[in-house]
Amino acid sequence: MSGRLAVIGLGPGDQRYLTQEAHDALEAADALYGYAPYLDRVPARPNQTRHASDNREEGARAQAALRHAADGANVAVVSGGDPGVFAMAASVLEAVESGPHAWRALDIAIVPGITAMLAVAARAGAPLGHDFCTLSLSDNLKPWELIERRLDAAASAGFVIALYNPVSRARPWQLGKAFTLLSRHLPGATPVIFGRAVGRGDESVTVTALAAAADASADMATLIIVGSRETRLIVREGQSPLVYTPRAVEGALT
Ligand code: SAH
Repeated sequence: MSGRLAVIGLGPGDQRYLTQEAHDALEAADALYGYAPYLDRVPARPNQTRHASDNREEGARAQAALRHAADGANVAVVSGGDPGVFAMAASVLEAVESGPHAWRALDIAIVPGITAMLAVAARAGAPLGHDFCTLSLSDNLKPWELIERRLDAAASAGFVIALYNPVSRARPWQLGKAFTLLSRHLPGATPVIFGRAVGRGDESVTVTALAAAADASADMATLIIVGSRETRLIVREGQSPLVYTPRAVEGALT
């Protein structure tokens, strides 16, 4: 079987964040599959077809792309950020595992991209300098009780926490609940970073404290990083503060 399927990370924003590997893979594709706003970020090329689908149709999109590749085409599925982080790479592999055996013979490549967490962290300083973890706050694909348990465990273990999918119209209260939960483990002064649309023209990054975080605005284009007890703020006159988490914690073996 000569078909190829590449799952490509576009990075968080404009072309500057696209890797050379991703650029080359996009150029080589006969067909592009993806959520329409992501496809819109890819310049049109002649002889390349585009297959846009809705955000919630990841499984069907993965299957359609695999069928197309199995016909011998060079197919690209695009994701924002990195395709392996809460995105299409896992959907494609899920479809491969449960699909026709022939799909396993395809040339399948995952092309990494800069995930939102790294783009936001870089804007704010170095909040991920020590141990961290990441959670999606969306309870579309897992029960809310599990999210609460993981938030509790992450905060009590001392991780810096990056939150993807913090709110949506269908999930208006979850983020406030998450901050309340985290406040049981962390001081009110703990730095919290809100990065919105980082890497795009309308980018904004704000730093606040956990005690005031519920008043900050967030939407589906926002990634939130909640510091740990070690996370520090360097205040600068006339410039935004620098947030960082030191490389070592006290008592660590060297
Ligand atoms: N695969 C993507 C994540 C998909 S989940 C990645 O690696 O970045 C979608 C969530 O990612 C959004 O709700 C938001 O929390 C975050 N996100 C994606 N792009 C972003 C950007 N440019 N700025 C801030 N957050 C972003």
